[in-house]
Amino acid sequence: MIDLEKTQRRIDRFPALCRRAGLKVTPQRSAVYAMLASTDTHPSPDTIFSSVREGLPNISQGTVYKVLDLLTERGLLVKVATPGQVARYDARTEPHYHAVCIRCGGIEDVQAEAAPPVPRGDPDGGFDVHKVDVVLQGLCHKCRAPDA
Ligand SMILES: [Zn+2]
Ligand SMILES: [Zn+2]
Repeated sequence: MIDLEKTQRRIDRFPALCRRAGLKVTPQRSAVYAMLASTDTHPSPDTIFSSVREGLPNISQGTVYKVLDLLTERGLLVKVATPGQVARYDARTEPHYHAVCIRCGGIEDVQAEAAPPVPRGDPDGGFDVHKVDVVLQGLCHKCRAPDA
């Protein structure tokens, strides 16, 4: 469920987050961030584009993709690990897990106590692990309900 107060606080924090990340606040970046901060559905770039275009009719799809890449790279957004699916984005950057529904593709947040421990990979230096994504797969509440 969306907590409006939390959403607003997240949106209000955007200029400070940009400053810390060395980014300028632009209307395009603000719009993309605000859209993501006000949903918990982990939308795809296409969904984000259609929504942002309502407020910024001249924004191009390419710009939305570029903003998503940049904000993800600077740690303001999270790209959700969705094997075999289009990328999905999240403005919630605190540690949490994702539960992906194998029927409808819905993605829900799952509370995590802390970030999962990062395995050391190959101790002899073969692979340097930066991040671990935990994705739970199953059926969401809606898809579990018996067909009407
Ligand atoms: Zn589902
Ligand atoms: Zn999430």
